[in-house]
Amino acid sequence: MTTTLHRTGEPSPPAPFCGTDADLRALRSDLEQQRSFRIDQLRQLTRLLQDPGTDDDAHISVALTLRSAATSVLADVEAALRRIDDRSFGACPACGTPIPLSRLQALPMTRWCRPCQQANESTADVPDTATHPGSVQVALDIVEVWGQGSFPASDPPANW
Ligand SMILES: [Zn+2]
Repeated sequence: MTTTLHRTGEPSPPAPFCGTDADLRALRSDLEQQRSFRIDQLRQLTRLLQDPGTDDDAHISVALTLRSAATSVLADVEAALRRIDDRSFGACPACGTPIPLSRLQALPMTRWCRPCQQANESTADVPDTATHPGSVQVALDIVEVWGQGSFPASDPPANW
């Protein structure tokens, strides 16, 4: 009894993305919007850091944190767009399984399926920012609270 497995030595992954072309277009447009948002944000933060208008170290250090978070997110977004272009988008590189559409829609720049991401987080040894969305999210929440473009002279939110 022999089953012939077509192992040619060349990995031939099926198109990993599990949604329709329209889903993929929607995700791409979402990613493109995120990219331009982050580019604007980085421009504003860079301008702010060049001329902070304050000696308040706390404001400057928040701006630095935000800038590094925005840089990470932008890199993740651009990497996701590249994966769409090279058709590897939607497959977890660790286990090869397709990432569920609902997860991609919630987190279009995610690279991993949920179990692999959780495994990565539990080893706590992965430098990839994509595996640590939590810390980035905190910084992004600060942006939401403070708004874009201007740092308030008043006290920042107490809780960070
Ligand atoms: Zn996986």
